[in-house]
Amino acid sequence: MSEFALCLTHDVDRPYKTYQGLFYALQSNPGYHLRTLLGRENPYWQFEDIMALERDLGVRSSFYFLNEPSLLRTGTLADWFDPKNWIEHLGRYDIEAEAITEVIHALDDGGWEVGIHGSFRSCDDFDRLRTEKRELESVLGRDILGGRQHHLKLGPRTWQYHRELGLKYDASPGSSSTHGFQHGYRPFRPFDDEFVVFPLTLMEVSLPDPGRSFESAWAECEQLLVEAEANDAVMTVLWHPRYFNDDEFPGYRRLYREVVAWALDRGAWVGPVGDYYREFLDDGGSEATRTGRTRETVQSEHEAE
Ligand SMILES: [Zn+2]
Repeated sequence: MSEFALCLTHDVDRPYKTYQGLFYALQSNPGYHLRTLLGRENPYWQFEDIMALERDLGVRSSFYFLNEPSLLRTGTLADWFDPKNWIEHLGRYDIEAEAITEVIHALDDGGWEVGIHGSFRSCDDFDRLRTEKRELESVLGRDILGGRQHHLKLGPRTWQYHRELGLKYDASPGSSSTHGFQHGYRPFRPFDDEFVVFPLTLMEVSLPDPGRSFESAWAECEQLLVEAEANDAVMTVLWHPRYFNDDEFPGYRRLYREVVAWALDRGAWVGPVGDYYREFLDDGGSEATRTGRTRETVQSEHEAE
């Protein structure tokens, strides 16, 4: 199998704007930030918008859900006075909350992949990871295939833990400050078995701010896409859901759309990591099962937003 592929992923870190909203409200534009903080109109809640955008493009993606231990359950009073913990915990979500379980099922029903976003400490904690996986699977109602660790943090045994827990892949190796193929053009098998690692090629935050200069941000993306196509690479990109809010993060949504459209235009396979695994890397997979989504379904890839 040698074909350029683009895997689309979203790490669901914080779908609610809470601490950050208070912080920004004290600095600038208090009306806007307080309204979005307190109202139903929550700017970080982008699930439906992303689904609509991807449906329009004719693609699907992976959503990785974080299941951090809550300070409410495990914290001491001293923890609450440490601002570092506010950032880490306020704005976290409960994967069993109704709004989140509804989203998880809507994604799953619509052909999106639901995967695990292992919490910060879980990379060194087998039991923690097992609990997080079990809880997510109980919400989803079936097994998950893989995911990515929070902060891309891997410990010396993380992949062994993943494998022992029956996960088929991890998509963590990468960087939030640089992008490129430093971890290779292809998924690899660290244990020479069915467990596969997908390098992360590009996280949105490592790009020049597209709100300031869309052209510079696009130039970096295009360079990666060209390199991926020339090398039949599997390029994996991460756009956090909140970056799809164009008021808060101008340009990122359009950039994502352009990246996907470019790949579809060149006949790339585009989709969730788990689908790629099942179609091309699973032992049961074969050339005959290849049904990559291509550009027939795309109508409006260069439409202005
Ligand atoms: Zn994360």
